[in-house]
Parts: sequence; C-alpha cells; structure tokens
Amino acid sequence: MTAAKVYFGSIQHGVATRFASFAAKVDKVVDQLDMSTIEKGDKVAVKMHLGFLDGYQTVPVFFVRRIVKAVKGFSKNVFITDNPTAVYNAADRGYTQETCGCPIIPVAGIKDGYTVERRVDYRNVETLDMAGVLNDADVLIDLSHIKGHNSCGFGGAIKNIALGGFSAPTRWNKIHGVEQSIPYWDPEKCSPEHAKKLELACPYKHLKYDAENHKLTRMFSMCRNCEECLEADKDVGCLELKQGNFSAFQELMAIAAKQVLDTFDESKRFFISFLLQITALCDCWGVGFPPLVNDIGVLASRDIVAVEMAALDLIKDEGLIEKNVPRYYRHANLDPKADLHPFQRLNGKYKNPYLTVEFAERFGLGSKEYEIVEVLSPEETMNVEPPKGVAEREPSFF
Ligand code: SF4
Repeated sequence: MTAAKVYFGSIQHGVATRFASFAAKVDKVVDQLDMSTIEKGDKVAVKMHLGFLDGYQTVPVFFVRRIVKAVKGFSKNVFITDNPTAVYNAADRGYTQETCGCPIIPVAGIKDGYTVERRVDYRNVETLDMAGVLNDADVLIDLSHIKGHNSCGFGGAIKNIALGGFSAPTRWNKIHGVEQSIPYWDPEKCSPEHAKKLELACPYKHLKYDAENHKLTRMFSMCRNCEECLEADKDVGCLELKQGNFSAFQELMAIAAKQVLDTFDESKRFFISFLLQITALCDCWGVGFPPLVNDIGVLASRDIVAVEMAALDLIKDEGLIEKNVPRYYRHANLDPKADLHPFQRLNGKYKNPYLTVEFAERFGLGSKEYEIVEVLSPEETMNVEPPKGVAEREPSFF
C-alpha cells in the first residue's frame, strides 16, 4: 500500500508576517487537499464538534469560516452539522451562520430522531442509528479538534464521525455500552461483603455495587487502569481488568466510522484535524481544561487512518506538559520514557489510542503509512523576503 499524503502546517513559523502565519498554512493545507472533486450543487456536510456549555476548546470559528469559504469555491451548498444540543447553543461559543458563513444543522434532526438504521452485529450491538443528515450529504468534511478521550485515549477524525455521526441513544447506550459485553466479574466467587469492599477500593468511584441484584459494574469509560481494585481482590480473584473490554469500544468506533464513510464516494471525503488546545478529555465535557500538549498545528488528508496516525505520532513526539496535568489524574504516568503514548500515560495503559487506528486500517478505511508534506515550514520561510503588505499607519480599513 502506498503512503497516504498528509499535509501539515506547523504552529511554529519562520518569519512574523502573514504569508508564513498559521492562518496562511491552514489555507495552504486546504488548498493542497484539492477539493476539486466537489461538484457544483453537492451538499457538503462539515462535521465538527461545536462544544458544550463552557467548553471553548473546539476548532476556532476563525478557521471554520476560512474552510467554509474555501469549500464554497466548489459548491455553495455547505452546512456545518453536529448533535442537536451543541447546535442549539453553538452561538454561545461563537458559532453562528453569520460567523461561520453557512447554516448549522442538527446531524440527526431537531429531536435527534432523523436516523438511518445500520446493521453491525458486533458483540452486544445489533444496529446503530446513523445520523440522517450525513446519510443525505454528498460530501464529508470531517473537521476535528484533536484531544484525549476518557474511553479510548484519543479523539480525532474517527471519533468525530463514529460517535458524532450517530444519535445520542446509539452513542451513549450502544457504543459506550459495548465495553460491558465481555465478562470481567464472577458473581459466584464474590460475596456481597467483598463486592462492597471492591466498590470502596476504587479511588475514582468507578466501581458500583448493586446489592439488591448482586451486580458489580465497572465504568470502563472513566476507569484509569490503576489496578487498586485488583489489589483489593487478590485473595478472592473474582475481578479482572482486561484489554478486551476497552478495545471493544475502539473496534466499534472503527465499525461506526466505516458506516458513515461508506455513504460517501471516496473522492468526496476530506479530513482536516486541528492540533491546538490539546486537552486530556473530549469536547463533550463542556468545560475548559489546561492544554496537556503544546499546540502543534493542522493536518489535512484524504485518508482518515493516515491523518489520525500522523496526529498521534506528532503528539507522541511532543509529549505532555507535565505541569498542566490536573491533580485528579492521581495515577498519571509522568515518566516521559515510559513506552506508552502520552494519552495512555494520562487515561490508562489499556486506552492505547493506536488501537482504533489499527482497527480502522483492518476495516479498509485507509492506510497507517503516511507521508508528511509540510507547507510553509519555518526553514522554508525564514529567509524569504515577505510580500509587500498594507500597514495601518492612520485610521483606515483594509
Ligand atoms: S482499575 Fe482503578 S480506576 Fe479502574 S475500576 Fe479498578 S480501581 Fe477503579
């Protein structure tokens, strides 16, 4: 398989003028992506996360507007789409039709019920309800804010359509529910007293014991893999912590992403990922977080697997900003030499973000082999004579 091209604009610049600025690089990577396969009249869905409540670390409207403008060069029928809640209060975070330059539409209708059933038959999940608006669109611009994620370590282009491309009941009950499909606790071996002890052993309160039904449940999405429950269980051996439960979520994400991508012609899928304000948790939390990785830049590709792989590798090279790791990450592994991706060091060793990418490649979504094509690099631009600009030396508009 040939390496997929991933265009990269670094946040680092070589000269402090507009032609080499980050905004210029965003324009350039979008240009390199070559959207000429979009036909006049195509309905173009820009799927992004518009954030929630007080969460402001999404793709800045400044760049969204530029990307929408670029797409309009090929088809005027562009719209932004996301889940209904995020759409209804998007204006609170600066996203409006006026600022973005196109309408903003709920991805699964005004009551989250405009969906198309997709049969997947994966573990305890028979069907997924895919967003009807994505099913109707001709072109997909998968515009992602890159960050960590509590369930699978990483949120990027795959998660943006795998969770964001489906109704809330599918997202929360089915995709998040698949982690429970592999047994991890033996009720026969565990007395009610021991189950209560295990519940209390979890420092994050992510083990819940239902005494009435004698049922112990681990909240896998929030489990930090600290193994304190296993330590409390060592004399009984009724509880397990296995890679499979965590990987099931990642595999179903890749399956869900494939369902969305399969509705688009290969020539009409574009992936743009912003590696800015990289937080440990995702945009659904509705709060601002300290950035855990330095800003890196922007990536664009026609290959979803390649763009994810490049984002993960760049973050791995960059490492964590240790002083920004919140205190509630009591078991974060702060050893930069540990053989774990920075997001695993934060969210848990079983939350290996590369696994999602591997599943996606196995399902034929793209190639892990990629070639970075950097645009307007600092080295390239630092000795270039900048084009003559306009200076505002007196009150004026330009
Ligand atoms: S591994 Fe740690 S965080 Fe996870 S359930 Fe056990 S005690 Fe809780």
